[in-house]
Amino acid sequence: MSIFEDNEKRIDEITELLKLSDAEIRILKNPKKINETELEVNGVKYPALRILFNDALGPGKGGIRFHPNVDKDEVKSLAFWMTLKCSLAGIPYGGAKGGVKINIDNMDKKTIEQVARAYIKAFVNEIGPNKDIPAPDMNTNAQTMAWMLDEYEKIIGEKRPDAITGKPIILGGIETRSEATGYGGWLVLKETLRLLCYGKCEKNICKDKLTVAVQGFGNVGHAFAKHAYENGFKIIAISDSHGGIYDKDGLNINKLIEHKKNGGNLSTFESQQKISNQELLELNVDVLVPAATENQITKDNADNIKAEIVLELANGPVTYEADRILESKKIILIPDIAANAGGVVSSYQEWTNNRIGNYLRKDELLRTFEQIMNKMINDVYIESVAKKFSLRKAGYIIAIRKVLGAEKMRGNL
Ligand code: NAD
Repeated sequence: MSIFEDNEKRIDEITELLKLSDAEIRILKNPKKINETELEVNGVKYPALRILFNDALGPGKGGIRFHPNVDKDEVKSLAFWMTLKCSLAGIPYGGAKGGVKINIDNMDKKTIEQVARAYIKAFVNEIGPNKDIPAPDMNTNAQTMAWMLDEYEKIIGEKRPDAITGKPIILGGIETRSEATGYGGWLVLKETLRLLCYGKCEKNICKDKLTVAVQGFGNVGHAFAKHAYENGFKIIAISDSHGGIYDKDGLNINKLIEHKKNGGNLSTFESQQKISNQELLELNVDVLVPAATENQITKDNADNIKAEIVLELANGPVTYEADRILESKKIILIPDIAANAGGVVSSYQEWTNNRIGNYLRKDELLRTFEQIMNKMINDVYIESVAKKFSLRKAGYIIAIRKVLGAEKMRGNL
């Protein structure tokens, strides 16, 4: 089943609960605009996409991914999730996403820059600060955004730092953006635990020093692990696409980050036990954090998941069928549209700074960031308790109501 077909099943469930009309379902299942092309760089052609899923609540917003698995189905799903995520977080954006089907492992920096610039040349008419605002995603970073912004400004002939977020600080980025998704995930987990364990609590998770396994040691996984570690959680396993490492007494995440900064990788870190990605997912931990890519927990392995809580920091790591299995096992799943919203909330702060030209201090940024993240997860939790829905269903309902409400006010429904 394709990723978007999986999404459609979730939409169908909400359709029944909210008694949505055919016109409303059409809006939820169809992107507003799909742009596809091929980028030609040094004689090689790379398929590329930019999809605007919905812009009823504001301009499109979504990252650009460079990955060999990029295709229309994936980008469409990511753009759909962005639509829900921005709506749920209460920030004035619609949802979009972009991607290039490319393997940048072992690719030289100059070629990556050419691909980044070619992407902007191809989609310059589709993006812009009031239209659709790109940001980094898998295998793209602040440097990629700097090349993209430079290309965009050269073409339009003026400075528009608000056209792209996730930029280097020197080009109008903000200090808090690079860790925002992982840090936001940590805040969401902490607040969910507070809500779950409020008052007298006998649940297994209502204790100190929860054990954690993190799949993915990139931008998101490493920042989450760092905050969880520094707050006393025991990270017993962490992995990347080559496999993982395990230590039952807990890994020293700060040392591991230092090791990676110095050019090391997981397999060369001290003498921990090796573990496969599959084994990591099935570990007996309190919190499992998929922070790598889609479709990691499926109907084939969901029965073997032993964690009490799954915190979805990647987009779409748990399939629809797996969701149902986890729910039947009473595993608490904190959905991606809430758990990883920190990235786009921080992007929103960067965009706002760029637009008003008044750059807030780090403490001011963090204060608002924490307020937005905490309000969002509280809204989801309250809806979930009130209606006896899973956190995912509660989040989808809140987000979808707002998107359709905006479409109605615009006269599109
Ligand atoms: P990244 O490229 O920085 O890191 C990805 C990590 O996952 C790497 O360590 C990679 O080795 C690992 N990985 C890739 N495939 C894997 C596999 N099959 N098994 C195990 N590990 C694997 O990417 P990122 O920015 O950290 O993004 C990770 C996820 O978080 C993606 O789903 C992305 O869409 C989502 N996300 C990212 C942001 C952001 O701000 N970067 C925001 C929201 C959501």
